[in-house]
Amino acid sequence: MQDVSPILKYYGFNGNESMKNPPNKTISAISTPAGPGGVGLIRISGKDAISIAQKVFTSKSGRQLAEMKGYTAAYGEMHDSQGQLDDGIALVFRAPKSYTGEDMVELTCHGGGFVTQSVLRATYEAGAVAAGPGEFTRRAYINDKMDLAQAESVMNIISASGRNALTAAKMAHDGNLSRLCDSMADELQTLAALITAWTEYPDEDIDMFSTESVIEKLTVIRKNLLELVKRYDTGKSVTEGVNTVICGRPNVGKSSVMNMLAGKYLAIVTDIPGTTRDVVSMSVRAGQVLLHLSDTAGMHDTDDKIESIGIDLARQKAETAELILAVFDGSEKLTEEDYKLIDSVCRDKNVIAVVNKMDLPQLIERDFIEKNFRYTVSTNATDDFPPDSLYEMIEKAVGADNFDPYSEMLAGERQRMCCIEAAESLNEAILTLRDGMTFDTVEVCIESALSMLFELTGKSAREEIVASVFKNFCLGK
Ligand code: GDP
Repeated sequence: MQDVSPILKYYGFNGNESMKNPPNKTISAISTPAGPGGVGLIRISGKDAISIAQKVFTSKSGRQLAEMKGYTAAYGEMHDSQGQLDDGIALVFRAPKSYTGEDMVELTCHGGGFVTQSVLRATYEAGAVAAGPGEFTRRAYINDKMDLAQAESVMNIISASGRNALTAAKMAHDGNLSRLCDSMADELQTLAALITAWTEYPDEDIDMFSTESVIEKLTVIRKNLLELVKRYDTGKSVTEGVNTVICGRPNVGKSSVMNMLAGKYLAIVTDIPGTTRDVVSMSVRAGQVLLHLSDTAGMHDTDDKIESIGIDLARQKAETAELILAVFDGSEKLTEEDYKLIDSVCRDKNVIAVVNKMDLPQLIERDFIEKNFRYTVSTNATDDFPPDSLYEMIEKAVGADNFDPYSEMLAGERQRMCCIEAAESLNEAILTLRDGMTFDTVEVCIESALSMLFELTGKSAREEIVASVFKNFCLGK
Protein backbone atom coordinates (compact mmCIF):
# COMPACT_ATOMS: atom_id res chain seq x y z
CA MET A 1 0.00 0.00 0.00
CA GLN A 2 1.19 3.54 -0.77
CA ASP A 3 2.17 5.94 1.99
CA VAL A 4 -0.63 8.51 2.36
CA SER A 5 -0.51 11.94 3.93
CA PRO A 6 -2.42 12.50 7.20
CA ILE A 7 -4.87 14.81 5.44
CA LEU A 8 -5.80 12.14 2.90
CA LYS A 9 -6.12 9.58 5.71
CA TYR A 10 -8.42 12.04 7.39
CA TYR A 11 -10.52 12.03 4.24
CA GLY A 12 -10.73 8.28 4.39
CA PHE A 13 -8.25 7.54 1.61
CA ASN A 14 -6.11 4.46 2.10
CA GLY A 15 -3.74 5.16 -0.76
CA ASN A 16 -5.26 2.74 -3.23
CA GLU A 17 -7.92 5.09 -4.54
CA SER A 18 -7.28 7.73 -7.16
CA MET A 19 -7.37 11.35 -5.94
CA LYS A 20 -10.71 11.73 -7.72
CA ASN A 21 -12.53 9.18 -5.53
CA PRO A 22 -15.04 10.86 -3.24
CA PRO A 23 -13.98 10.94 0.40
CA ASN A 24 -15.87 8.32 2.41
CA LYS A 25 -16.50 10.42 5.51
CA THR A 26 -19.59 12.56 5.84
CA ILE A 27 -18.75 16.06 7.04
CA SER A 28 -20.80 18.78 8.66
CA ALA A 29 -20.28 22.39 9.71
CA ILE A 30 -22.16 25.59 10.45
CA SER A 31 -22.09 27.68 7.27
CA THR A 32 -23.52 30.92 8.65
CA PRO A 33 -21.44 33.43 10.66
CA ALA A 34 -21.01 32.97 14.41
CA GLY A 35 -23.34 34.94 16.65
CA PRO A 36 -27.08 35.59 16.70
CA GLY A 37 -28.84 35.93 13.35
CA GLY A 38 -32.13 35.40 11.57
CA VAL A 39 -31.23 31.90 10.43
CA GLY A 40 -28.41 29.44 11.03
CA LEU A 41 -27.43 26.88 8.43
CA ILE A 42 -25.79 23.52 9.12
CA ARG A 43 -24.39 21.82 6.05
CA ILE A 44 -23.87 18.06 5.79
CA SER A 45 -22.08 16.44 2.85
CA GLY A 46 -21.05 12.88 2.03
CA LYS A 47 -22.48 9.49 1.23
CA ASP A 48 -24.31 9.29 4.60
CA ALA A 49 -25.53 12.90 4.57
CA ILE A 50 -29.20 11.98 4.16
CA SER A 51 -29.28 9.20 6.76
CA ILE A 52 -27.35 11.38 9.24
CA ALA A 53 -29.72 14.31 8.67
CA GLN A 54 -32.65 11.93 9.16
CA LYS A 55 -31.37 11.08 12.65
CA VAL A 56 -31.52 14.73 13.75
CA PHE A 57 -34.54 15.89 11.73
CA THR A 58 -38.16 14.71 11.71
CA SER A 59 -40.46 16.22 9.13
CA LYS A 60 -43.91 17.38 10.26
CA SER A 61 -45.52 15.52 7.36
CA GLY A 62 -43.83 12.27 8.36
CA ARG A 63 -41.93 12.19 5.06
CA GLN A 64 -38.53 10.50 5.19
CA LEU A 65 -35.57 12.48 3.78
CA ALA A 66 -34.45 9.28 2.02
CA GLU A 67 -37.64 9.42 -0.06
CA MET A 68 -37.09 13.01 -1.14
CA LYS A 69 -35.69 14.04 -4.51
CA GLY A 70 -32.82 16.50 -4.90
CA TYR A 71 -33.65 20.20 -4.53
CA THR A 72 -36.68 19.48 -2.31
CA ALA A 73 -37.29 20.75 1.19
CA ALA A 74 -39.22 19.59 4.24
CA TYR A 75 -40.35 21.47 7.32
CA GLY A 76 -39.84 19.72 10.63
CA GLU A 77 -38.07 19.47 13.94
CA MET A 78 -34.42 19.06 14.87
CA HIS A 79 -33.37 17.16 17.96
CA ASP A 80 -30.40 15.60 19.68
CA SER A 81 -30.12 12.71 22.14
CA GLN A 82 -31.58 14.90 24.90
CA GLY A 83 -34.67 15.96 22.98
CA GLN A 84 -36.08 18.67 20.78
CA LEU A 85 -33.88 21.60 19.69
CA ASP A 86 -35.65 23.76 17.12
CA ASP A 87 -37.97 23.66 14.14
CA GLY A 88 -36.70 24.44 10.68
CA ILE A 89 -36.11 23.27 7.13
CA ALA A 90 -34.15 20.37 5.65
CA LEU A 91 -33.10 20.91 2.03
CA VAL A 92 -31.97 17.78 0.21
CA PHE A 93 -29.42 17.66 -2.64
CA ARG A 94 -28.66 14.46 -4.50
CA ALA A 95 -25.20 13.64 -5.89
CA PRO A 96 -23.83 14.78 -8.26
CA LYS A 97 -26.17 17.79 -8.36
CA SER A 98 -24.92 19.57 -5.29
CA TYR A 99 -22.18 22.06 -4.39
CA THR A 100 -19.76 19.29 -3.41
CA GLY A 101 -20.96 16.76 -5.97
CA GLU A 102 -22.00 14.48 -3.08
CA ASP A 103 -25.32 13.90 -1.32
CA MET A 104 -25.94 16.94 0.83
CA VAL A 105 -28.50 18.20 3.33
CA GLU A 106 -28.74 21.76 4.57
CA LEU A 107 -30.54 22.19 7.86
CA THR A 108 -31.80 25.69 8.52
CA CYS A 109 -32.79 26.61 12.05
CA HIS A 110 -32.89 29.85 14.06
CA GLY A 111 -29.56 31.64 14.04
CA GLY A 112 -28.73 31.55 17.75
CA GLY A 113 -25.22 30.50 18.75
CA PHE A 114 -26.42 27.73 21.07
CA VAL A 115 -29.09 26.31 18.79
CA THR A 116 -26.83 26.05 15.72
CA GLN A 117 -24.02 24.52 17.80
CA SER A 118 -26.47 22.00 19.27
CA VAL A 119 -27.78 20.95 15.83
CA LEU A 120 -24.17 20.65 14.63
CA ARG A 121 -23.29 18.47 17.63
CA ALA A 122 -26.35 16.34 16.94
CA THR A 123 -25.02 15.67 13.41
CA TYR A 124 -21.71 14.54 14.98
CA GLU A 125 -23.60 12.22 17.34
CA ALA A 126 -25.37 10.85 14.28
CA GLY A 127 -22.08 10.00 12.56
CA ALA A 128 -20.77 13.09 10.77
CA VAL A 129 -17.24 14.41 11.31
CA ALA A 130 -16.31 18.07 11.65
CA ALA A 131 -15.53 19.71 8.31
CA GLY A 132 -12.22 21.55 8.07
CA PRO A 133 -11.91 25.05 6.59
CA GLY A 134 -12.96 25.01 2.94
CA GLU A 135 -13.65 21.30 3.03
CA PHE A 136 -16.96 21.53 1.16
CA THR A 137 -15.24 23.45 -1.65
CA ARG A 138 -12.32 21.04 -1.54
CA ARG A 139 -14.75 18.21 -2.14
CA ALA A 140 -16.27 20.16 -5.01
CA TYR A 141 -12.71 20.35 -6.42
CA ILE A 142 -12.02 16.64 -5.84
CA ASN A 143 -15.33 15.75 -7.46
CA ASP A 144 -14.57 17.89 -10.54
CA LYS A 145 -17.31 20.42 -9.81
CA MET A 146 -14.68 23.16 -10.16
CA ASP A 147 -10.94 23.50 -10.62
CA LEU A 148 -8.53 25.07 -8.17
CA ALA A 149 -8.67 28.52 -9.77
CA GLN A 150 -12.47 28.49 -9.53
CA ALA A 151 -12.30 27.25 -5.94
CA GLU A 152 -10.03 30.15 -5.00
CA SER A 153 -12.50 32.61 -6.52
CA VAL A 154 -15.12 31.41 -4.01
CA MET A 155 -13.26 33.21 -1.22
CA ASN A 156 -13.04 36.32 -3.41
CA ILE A 157 -16.81 36.26 -3.88
CA ILE A 158 -17.23 36.05 -0.11
CA SER A 159 -14.77 38.88 0.59
CA ALA A 160 -15.74 41.12 -2.35
CA SER A 161 -15.93 44.73 -1.18
CA GLY A 162 -17.64 46.21 -4.22
CA ARG A 163 -19.48 45.43 -7.45
CA ASN A 164 -16.35 45.29 -9.64
CA ALA A 165 -14.55 42.99 -7.20
CA LEU A 166 -17.65 40.79 -7.06
CA THR A 167 -18.03 40.69 -10.86
CA ALA A 168 -14.33 39.78 -11.29
CA ALA A 169 -14.61 36.99 -8.70
CA LYS A 170 -17.84 35.71 -10.24
CA MET A 171 -16.29 35.64 -13.74
CA ALA A 172 -13.38 33.58 -12.35
CA HIS A 173 -15.83 31.31 -10.57
CA ASP A 174 -17.67 30.82 -13.85
CA GLY A 175 -14.35 29.70 -15.30
CA ASN A 176 -13.08 32.52 -17.54
CA LEU A 177 -9.53 32.30 -16.11
CA SER A 178 -9.54 28.50 -16.21
CA ARG A 179 -10.62 28.55 -19.86
CA LEU A 180 -7.82 30.95 -20.77
CA CYS A 181 -5.25 28.80 -18.91
CA ASP A 182 -6.58 25.64 -20.54
CA SER A 183 -6.35 27.18 -24.01
CA MET A 184 -2.76 28.34 -23.35
CA ALA A 185 -1.92 24.85 -22.05
CA ASP A 186 -3.50 23.24 -25.16
CA GLU A 187 -1.36 25.40 -27.42
CA LEU A 188 1.79 24.60 -25.47
CA GLN A 189 1.00 20.89 -25.62
CA THR A 190 0.54 21.11 -29.40
CA LEU A 191 3.84 22.97 -29.73
CA ALA A 192 5.63 20.43 -27.50
CA ALA A 193 4.20 17.59 -29.61
CA LEU A 194 5.34 19.31 -32.82
CA ILE A 195 8.82 19.80 -31.44
CA THR A 196 9.00 16.15 -30.36
CA ALA A 197 7.88 14.99 -33.79
CA TRP A 198 10.33 17.29 -35.49
CA THR A 199 13.21 16.16 -33.25
CA GLU A 200 12.46 12.50 -33.85
CA TYR A 201 11.81 12.80 -37.59
CA PRO A 202 13.90 15.79 -38.68
CA ASP A 203 13.68 14.80 -42.34
CA GLU A 204 9.88 14.83 -42.41
CA ASP A 205 8.28 18.03 -43.57
CA ILE A 206 6.12 18.76 -40.55
CA ASP A 207 3.31 21.08 -41.37
CA MET A 208 3.43 24.64 -40.04
CA PHE A 209 6.69 24.11 -38.23
CA SER A 210 9.46 26.64 -38.25
CA THR A 211 11.56 28.04 -35.45
CA GLU A 212 10.14 31.49 -36.14
CA SER A 213 6.53 30.31 -35.91
CA VAL A 214 7.24 28.55 -32.59
CA ILE A 215 8.90 31.69 -31.22
CA GLU A 216 5.92 33.71 -32.35
CA LYS A 217 3.43 31.41 -30.62
CA LEU A 218 5.45 31.23 -27.41
CA THR A 219 5.74 35.03 -27.40
CA VAL A 220 1.97 35.45 -27.64
CA ILE A 221 1.36 33.03 -24.73
CA ARG A 222 4.07 34.70 -22.65
CA LYS A 223 2.47 38.09 -23.37
CA ASN A 224 -0.91 36.75 -22.21
CA LEU A 225 0.65 35.51 -18.98
CA LEU A 226 2.38 38.81 -18.28
CA GLU A 227 -0.83 40.64 -19.09
CA LEU A 228 -2.60 38.53 -16.42
CA VAL A 229 0.10 39.46 -13.89
CA LYS A 230 -0.14 43.15 -14.77
CA ARG A 231 -3.91 43.12 -14.54
CA TYR A 232 -3.70 41.40 -11.18
CA ASP A 233 -1.20 43.96 -9.86
CA THR A 234 -3.39 46.90 -10.82
CA GLY A 235 -6.68 45.08 -10.14
CA LYS A 236 -5.53 44.11 -6.64
CA SER A 237 -6.59 47.55 -5.46
CA VAL A 238 -10.16 46.56 -6.34
CA THR A 239 -10.09 42.89 -5.39
CA GLU A 240 -7.78 42.86 -2.36
CA GLY A 241 -7.25 46.47 -1.34
CA VAL A 242 -4.38 48.94 -1.08
CA ASN A 243 -2.26 49.60 2.00
CA THR A 244 -2.72 53.33 2.41
CA VAL A 245 -1.19 55.72 4.89
CA ILE A 246 -2.47 59.18 5.75
CA CYS A 247 0.38 61.43 6.76
CA GLY A 248 1.14 65.09 7.24
CA ARG A 249 2.26 67.51 9.91
CA PRO A 250 0.06 67.92 13.03
CA ASN A 251 -3.32 69.62 12.78
CA VAL A 252 -3.68 69.66 8.99
CA GLY A 253 -6.77 67.40 9.25
CA LYS A 254 -5.41 63.84 8.86
CA SER A 255 -7.80 62.30 11.38
CA SER A 256 -10.66 64.30 9.89
CA VAL A 257 -9.81 62.95 6.42
CA MET A 258 -9.71 59.42 7.87
CA ASN A 259 -13.10 59.88 9.54
CA MET A 260 -14.58 61.37 6.39
CA LEU A 261 -13.39 58.39 4.32
CA ALA A 262 -14.58 55.94 6.97
CA GLY A 263 -17.95 57.67 7.11
CA LYS A 264 -17.81 57.64 10.89
CA TYR A 265 -16.00 58.97 13.91
CA LEU A 266 -12.99 56.75 14.24
CA ALA A 267 -9.89 58.81 14.91
CA ILE A 268 -9.87 61.57 17.52
CA VAL A 269 -10.12 65.04 16.02
CA THR A 270 -9.00 68.02 18.09
CA ASP A 271 -7.24 71.29 17.45
CA ILE A 272 -4.52 70.16 19.86
CA PRO A 273 -1.47 69.13 17.81
CA GLY A 274 -0.08 65.65 18.51
CA THR A 275 -3.37 64.00 19.46
CA THR A 276 -2.85 60.94 17.24
CA ARG A 277 0.15 59.11 18.66
CA ASP A 278 -0.49 55.55 17.61
CA VAL A 279 -1.52 54.24 14.20
CA VAL A 280 -5.31 54.01 13.75
CA SER A 281 -6.31 51.52 11.03
CA MET A 282 -9.42 50.39 9.18
CA SER A 283 -10.52 49.26 5.72
CA VAL A 284 -12.83 51.55 3.76
CA ARG A 285 -14.13 51.62 0.24
CA ALA A 286 -13.26 54.65 -1.88
CA GLY A 287 -15.19 54.36 -5.14
CA GLN A 288 -14.17 50.98 -6.57
CA VAL A 289 -11.03 50.76 -4.43
CA LEU A 290 -10.68 49.11 -1.04
CA LEU A 291 -8.28 51.09 1.13
CA HIS A 292 -6.59 49.54 4.15
CA LEU A 293 -6.17 52.93 5.79
CA SER A 294 -3.83 53.95 8.56
CA ASP A 295 -3.97 57.38 10.16
CA THR A 296 -0.58 58.23 11.65
CA ALA A 297 0.95 60.62 14.12
CA GLY A 298 1.60 64.13 12.74
CA MET A 299 5.17 64.32 11.46
CA HIS A 300 7.27 67.01 13.09
CA ASP A 301 10.25 67.41 15.41
CA THR A 302 9.28 66.75 19.01
CA ASP A 303 10.87 66.03 22.39
CA ASP A 304 7.80 64.08 23.49
CA LYS A 305 8.99 60.45 23.79
CA ILE A 306 5.64 58.81 23.09
CA GLU A 307 4.92 61.11 20.16
CA SER A 308 8.38 60.34 18.71
CA ILE A 309 7.62 56.62 18.77
CA GLY A 310 4.36 57.34 16.94
CA ILE A 311 6.22 59.43 14.34
CA ASP A 312 8.78 56.64 13.77
CA LEU A 313 5.89 54.19 13.32
CA ALA A 314 4.30 56.59 10.84
CA ARG A 315 7.50 56.74 8.77
CA GLN A 316 7.79 52.93 8.76
CA LYS A 317 4.17 52.60 7.66
CA ALA A 318 4.67 55.17 4.91
CA GLU A 319 7.76 53.34 3.62
CA THR A 320 5.83 50.16 2.91
CA ALA A 321 2.56 51.82 1.87
CA GLU A 322 1.24 51.29 -1.64
CA LEU A 323 -0.50 54.66 -1.52
CA ILE A 324 0.09 57.76 0.61
CA LEU A 325 -2.47 60.47 1.23
CA ALA A 326 -0.25 63.44 2.13
CA VAL A 327 -2.47 65.99 3.84
CA PHE A 328 -1.70 69.74 3.79
CA ASP A 329 -3.53 72.64 5.39
CA GLY A 330 -4.70 74.79 2.46
CA SER A 331 -5.44 77.72 4.74
CA GLU A 332 -1.77 78.13 5.66
CA LYS A 333 1.47 78.60 3.78
CA LEU A 334 3.61 75.49 3.49
CA THR A 335 5.84 75.09 6.55
CA GLU A 336 9.31 73.65 7.03
CA GLU A 337 7.64 70.42 8.21
CA ASP A 338 5.55 70.22 5.03
CA TYR A 339 8.65 70.62 2.86
CA LYS A 340 10.44 67.94 4.88
CA LEU A 341 7.52 65.57 4.37
CA ILE A 342 7.50 66.21 0.63
CA ASP A 343 11.25 65.61 0.43
CA SER A 344 11.46 62.51 2.60
CA VAL A 345 8.29 60.48 3.07
CA CYS A 346 6.72 61.30 -0.30
CA ARG A 347 9.81 60.86 -2.45
CA ASP A 348 9.42 58.13 -5.10
CA LYS A 349 6.12 56.99 -3.63
CA ASN A 350 2.61 56.78 -5.03
CA VAL A 351 1.18 59.89 -3.38
CA ILE A 352 -1.97 61.99 -3.57
CA ALA A 353 -1.60 65.50 -2.19
CA VAL A 354 -4.76 66.25 -0.21
CA VAL A 355 -5.05 70.01 0.21
CA ASN A 356 -7.45 70.21 3.12
CA LYS A 357 -9.48 73.03 4.71
CA MET A 358 -10.59 74.28 1.31
CA ASP A 359 -13.57 75.96 3.02
CA LEU A 360 -11.14 78.51 4.50
CA PRO A 361 -9.32 81.26 2.55
CA GLN A 362 -6.44 79.52 0.72
CA LEU A 363 -2.84 80.59 1.42
CA ILE A 364 -1.03 77.40 0.42
CA GLU A 365 1.44 77.50 -2.51
CA ARG A 366 -0.82 75.44 -4.73
CA ASP A 367 1.52 75.67 -7.76
CA PHE A 368 4.34 74.12 -5.77
CA ILE A 369 2.10 71.27 -4.65
CA GLU A 370 0.83 70.60 -8.16
CA LYS A 371 4.36 70.66 -9.55
CA ASN A 372 5.60 68.17 -6.97
CA PHE A 373 2.68 65.73 -6.94
CA ARG A 374 1.16 63.80 -9.78
CA TYR A 375 -2.24 63.90 -8.08
CA THR A 376 -3.66 66.82 -6.10
CA VAL A 377 -7.15 67.12 -4.67
CA SER A 378 -8.89 69.66 -2.43
CA THR A 379 -11.05 68.62 0.51
CA ASN A 380 -13.06 70.00 3.36
CA ALA A 381 -12.69 67.20 5.86
CA THR A 382 -15.41 68.60 8.10
CA ASP A 383 -17.89 67.53 5.39
CA ASP A 384 -19.78 64.28 5.95
CA PHE A 385 -18.69 62.74 2.64
CA PRO A 386 -15.47 62.85 0.64
CA PRO A 387 -15.68 64.73 -2.67
CA ASP A 388 -16.00 62.55 -5.80
CA SER A 389 -12.71 64.04 -6.97
CA LEU A 390 -10.91 62.30 -4.08
CA TYR A 391 -12.36 58.92 -5.12
CA GLU A 392 -11.44 59.62 -8.75
CA MET A 393 -7.85 60.49 -7.78
CA ILE A 394 -7.54 57.35 -5.66
CA GLU A 395 -8.84 55.16 -8.50
CA LYS A 396 -6.40 56.82 -10.91
CA ALA A 397 -3.43 56.62 -8.57
CA VAL A 398 -3.82 52.86 -8.06
CA GLY A 399 -4.74 52.14 -11.67
CA ALA A 400 -8.29 51.05 -10.87
CA ASP A 401 -9.85 53.61 -13.23
CA ASN A 402 -9.64 51.22 -16.18
CA PHE A 403 -10.29 48.01 -14.28
CA ASP A 404 -12.36 45.67 -16.42
CA PRO A 405 -14.07 43.14 -14.15
CA TYR A 406 -15.03 41.01 -17.16
CA SER A 407 -11.41 40.28 -18.09
CA GLU A 408 -9.68 37.21 -16.71
CA MET A 409 -8.34 38.02 -13.25
CA LEU A 410 -5.94 36.06 -11.06
CA ALA A 411 -7.11 35.35 -7.53
CA GLY A 412 -4.11 35.78 -5.28
CA GLU A 413 -0.34 35.50 -5.03
CA ARG A 414 -0.24 31.74 -5.66
CA GLN A 415 -1.80 32.14 -9.09
CA ARG A 416 0.41 35.18 -9.79
CA MET A 417 3.56 33.16 -9.04
CA CYS A 418 2.38 30.36 -11.35
CA CYS A 419 1.99 32.89 -14.19
CA ILE A 420 5.35 34.52 -13.54
CA GLU A 421 7.16 31.17 -13.47
CA ALA A 422 5.38 29.97 -16.60
CA ALA A 423 6.29 33.25 -18.38
CA GLU A 424 9.94 32.86 -17.29
CA SER A 425 10.08 29.32 -18.63
CA LEU A 426 8.65 30.49 -21.95
CA ASN A 427 11.19 33.30 -22.06
CA GLU A 428 13.92 30.72 -21.64
CA ALA A 429 12.39 28.64 -24.41
CA ILE A 430 12.31 31.68 -26.73
CA LEU A 431 15.94 32.62 -25.95
CA THR A 432 17.03 29.01 -26.46
CA LEU A 433 15.31 28.91 -29.85
CA ARG A 434 16.88 32.23 -30.86
CA ASP A 435 20.31 30.92 -29.86
CA GLY A 436 19.76 27.92 -32.10
CA MET A 437 20.19 25.47 -29.22
CA THR A 438 18.80 21.95 -29.14
CA PHE A 439 15.05 21.40 -29.07
CA ASP A 440 15.40 19.17 -26.00
CA THR A 441 16.04 22.27 -23.88
CA VAL A 442 13.05 24.03 -25.44
CA GLU A 443 10.85 21.07 -24.65
CA VAL A 444 11.95 21.10 -21.02
CA CYS A 445 11.09 24.80 -20.76
CA ILE A 446 7.66 24.27 -22.35
CA GLU A 447 7.00 21.33 -20.02
CA SER A 448 7.85 23.46 -17.02
CA ALA A 449 5.55 26.28 -18.22
CA LEU A 450 2.83 23.68 -18.69
CA SER A 451 3.26 22.31 -15.19
CA MET A 452 2.87 25.85 -13.82
CA LEU A 453 -0.38 26.30 -15.75
CA PHE A 454 -1.64 22.95 -14.49
CA GLU A 455 -0.67 23.95 -10.98
CA LEU A 456 -2.63 27.19 -11.37
CA THR A 457 -5.83 25.41 -12.33
CA GLY A 458 -5.10 22.48 -10.03
CA LYS A 459 -4.97 19.87 -12.78
CA SER A 460 -1.72 18.61 -11.36
CA ALA A 461 -1.30 20.57 -8.16
CA ARG A 462 0.63 18.84 -5.42
CA GLU A 463 -1.20 17.89 -2.24
CA GLU A 464 0.58 20.59 -0.17
CA ILE A 465 -0.55 23.26 -2.63
CA VAL A 466 -4.16 22.08 -2.57
CA ALA A 467 -4.04 21.93 1.23
CA SER A 468 -2.61 25.44 1.47
CA VAL A 469 -5.36 26.83 -0.80
CA PHE A 470 -8.16 25.41 1.33
CA LYS A 471 -6.58 26.20 4.67
CA ASN A 472 -7.40 29.88 4.07
CA PHE A 473 -11.09 29.17 3.59
CA CYS A 474 -13.73 29.73 6.22
CA LEU A 475 -15.40 26.85 7.99
CA GLY A 476 -18.61 25.68 6.38
CA LYS A 477 -17.56 26.75 2.86
P1 GDP B 1 -4.64 66.02 12.46
O1 GDP B 1 -3.85 66.42 13.64
O2 GDP B 1 -3.88 66.28 11.21
O3 GDP B 1 -5.17 64.63 12.54
O4 GDP B 1 -5.90 67.02 12.39
P2 GDP B 1 -7.39 66.82 12.91
O5 GDP B 1 -8.15 65.97 11.98
O6 GDP B 1 -7.35 66.43 14.35
O7 GDP B 1 -7.92 68.30 12.75
C1 GDP B 1 -7.29 69.40 13.36
C2 GDP B 1 -8.28 70.56 13.45
O8 GDP B 1 -8.60 71.00 12.13
C3 GDP B 1 -9.62 70.17 14.10
O9 GDP B 1 -10.07 71.25 14.87
C4 GDP B 1 -10.54 69.95 12.91
O10 GDP B 1 -11.89 70.16 13.21
C5 GDP B 1 -10.02 70.97 11.92
N1 GDP B 1 -10.27 70.60 10.53
C6 GDP B 1 -9.92 69.44 9.93
N2 GDP B 1 -10.27 69.48 8.62
C7 GDP B 1 -10.84 70.68 8.39
C8 GDP B 1 -11.38 71.33 7.22
O11 GDP B 1 -11.40 70.79 6.12
N3 GDP B 1 -11.85 72.57 7.38
C9 GDP B 1 -11.81 73.22 8.58
N4 GDP B 1 -12.30 74.46 8.62
N5 GDP B 1 -11.32 72.66 9.68
C10 GDP B 1 -10.81 71.41 9.61
